[in-house]
Amino acid sequence: MSEQKPDYGCAEKSNYAGICPNCGVDGRLNYGCAEITDGSVDYPYECDACHFKGHEYYTLRFDTHTDNSGHEPHYKLFNTE
Ligand SMILES: [Zn+2]
Repeated sequence: MSEQKPDYGCAEKSNYAGICPNCGVDGRLNYGCAEITDGSVDYPYECDACHFKGHEYYTLRFDTHTDNSGHEPHYKLFNTE
């Protein structure tokens, strides 16, 4: 039995970072200035291949703290300035 896919009523489009969802070409997205909105980053872009304009969204999640030298809290020289 095959996996059930949602029916969007149109041809299937790819949905991967860096790949144009309109023409499917990889690595031709020209990104504009990122904007941070409600826990995600929005990168507007235009595809160099087909000129489709769209947005990529990335989810933000906490990674770590650092001091101004880039040391993480467990580092022995953390915050020694
Ligand atoms: Zn394209």
